[in-house]
Amino acid sequence: MNVDPQEILKFDDMASYWWDPEGPCKPLHDINPLRLQFIQTHTHLHQKNVLDLGCGGGILTESLSTFSGKVTGLDQSAQVLAAAKAHAVHLPQPPTYVERTAEDFAQEHPSTFDVITCMEMLEHVPSPLSILEACHTLLKPGGDLFLSTLNRTPKSFLFAIVGAEYLLKMLPKGTHDYKHFIRPSELSNWAQSKGFRLKSMKGIEYQLLTRTFRLSSDVSVNYLMHLQKDN
Ligand code: SAH
Repeated sequence: MNVDPQEILKFDDMASYWWDPEGPCKPLHDINPLRLQFIQTHTHLHQKNVLDLGCGGGILTESLSTFSGKVTGLDQSAQVLAAAKAHAVHLPQPPTYVERTAEDFAQEHPSTFDVITCMEMLEHVPSPLSILEACHTLLKPGGDLFLSTLNRTPKSFLFAIVGAEYLLKMLPKGTHDYKHFIRPSELSNWAQSKGFRLKSMKGIEYQLLTRTFRLSSDVSVNYLMHLQKDN
């Protein structure tokens, strides 16, 4: 199974703090408007069937559901999914949350989704390639895939691990493992080998002085990618 139980345990531990904007998921809260902006620049969500893969406690999933027809969040952490469901309970159109693997879900729902988002998740799975393959199966022809992950560069080691985990303490120590970071060239090559075309890429840059994030052309730490399934 393409799931690392040690990784899932780390997220289980964060579940009850997921929606605390000053808690261990603070960076996810902070970058959420930027990734939403990136997605909406490249696709229209209105009335689309959207899947948020590795959705966590639903920070992006809930935002997507305010703009689109139908949103499903998939994750492998039962505790994180429980936090997601509890938080969404008062929404007029709550997302549907499922505890499945991407691969099993793909077998059950081929060519179903218009848009798939998979954010900050690929660096936590044994085989990102297998996730890309599942996304390809799940998407309708011409469907949009939005990914984000951490680049493997000296700067990302310094910012995403030393800075974020040890100096600024924005993330719990051990959240990320440098050897699982993925270069944009690797990700786009894998995606192309599975039948996607690269449409666009942006960096999510952390500005030390203001302690804020912004979209930029600097993809050396965290980056977003828009890919499209061939017709
Ligand atoms: N995408 C969310 C959460 C990122 S944290 C966001 O950006 O806001 C990474 C999430 O991926 C965690 O919730 C973790 O449980 C989930 N995850 C890790 N491995 C997974 C797998 N193999 N299948 C599904 N979810 C997984």
